[in-house]
Amino acid sequence: MKEFSKMKTIEDFNFKGKKVLIRVDFNVPLNHNRQITDDTRIKESLPTISKILEDGASVILMTHLGRPKGGYEHDYSLTTIVPVLSKFLNKNVIFTRDLFSDKTKKVAAALKPGEVMLLENLRFYKEEEKPNEAFAKDLASLADCYVNDAFATSHRNHTSIATIAKFFPNNKYFGLLLASEIKNLNKILYDAKPPFTAVLGGAKISSKIGIIKNLIDKVDNMIIGGGMSYTFIKALGGSIGNSLVENDRLEDARSFVQEMMLKGVNLYLPIDACIAEGFSELEDFKMCDIDKIPSHMMGLDMGKRTRRRFAEIINKSNTILWNGPVGVFEMERFKQGTKALAISVAGATISGSFSLVGGGDSVAAINEYNLADQISYVSTGGGAMLEYVEGKELPGVQALLT
Ligand code: AMP
Repeated sequence: MKEFSKMKTIEDFNFKGKKVLIRVDFNVPLNHNRQITDDTRIKESLPTISKILEDGASVILMTHLGRPKGGYEHDYSLTTIVPVLSKFLNKNVIFTRDLFSDKTKKVAAALKPGEVMLLENLRFYKEEEKPNEAFAKDLASLADCYVNDAFATSHRNHTSIATIAKFFPNNKYFGLLLASEIKNLNKILYDAKPPFTAVLGGAKISSKIGIIKNLIDKVDNMIIGGGMSYTFIKALGGSIGNSLVENDRLEDARSFVQEMMLKGVNLYLPIDACIAEGFSELEDFKMCDIDKIPSHMMGLDMGKRTRRRFAEIINKSNTILWNGPVGVFEMERFKQGTKALAISVAGATISGSFSLVGGGDSVAAINEYNLADQISYVSTGGGAMLEYVEGKELPGVQALLT
């Protein structure tokens, strides 16, 4: 979706007097007491909801929460969301348990400008995850216009994300969050100022094949760290001891190395590692060359020389995309590499580079070190962001364009 100009966003329209059905993503993490532990996703939807309310429209919100099995489950009821949303919007939120009762239809029909209604968890209906026209039509009958602001779910071909859009042929819009995700991702994919550096980490090369393939033709530098770098090191003949490795991906790693050489992409792999005997916080650890890891030890974080090397490359880059931690950052002892990387990306941004960070773990690292304000764009969608960077079309985006 290169042509951002084709996108009809909510800024292009005044919704005065309309009823607007907004697909948001309020799939927030909950603790065992059903309390919201991170309300970022709710906060991220507020600009869209507020703009439409300020126009003088009424709003019907729909979302999923968690992974219920297709029927009502108290743990995933949106009753937990109502007070939080109500506080943010500073107004009463009308909640409806049954999406299709006459009462719900009447309440929706009677909504007045400025009023907000929240529908119960869409995934209590199995028709949500399997595209269903009748379900879509019923939802659509509640409103005059449809807005998708659920970027993090837009890679799903679900009823409220994709199927529903056809019932609003002339009245479907990108919400502000969805539009800004696409705009910023497009900047990376189609308009990157060189040198463009991609930093890819995480556990496995197998889940990053698509993203590496698509980025090879776009980047100047490819930095590969984390668990997946050991598959590359082994493929190149290094000794990686007990480090994480995907033996069935050695050939992929070798052909990526070759392709990058042919296409003039600079590939940077770690040169040293922080190694320990086991996957535990209690282990002693030491630094070691990346290709000389003793057979009884494993690499769990990038070493100090690698941190400096990667920082140099990042510092010289005008565009930076970062996805995936470069060590077992969940453990205090093995998070230093990911922390150093987050600081390098923030530092380059302060000096004028454009940076985009995406994926749950990398975003968590950025937040842990309070660096979010120093990154040009922090993506809210893990899977959706990966698929978009892989070059795939997102059903939620396509549905708004066709
Ligand atoms: P992914 O979901 O593929 O982005 O992988 C994220 C996971 O990769 C995190 O849970 C990290 O702990 C893990 N990870 C990063 N580096 C390593 C490593 N050297 N060895 C094992 N796991 C790693």
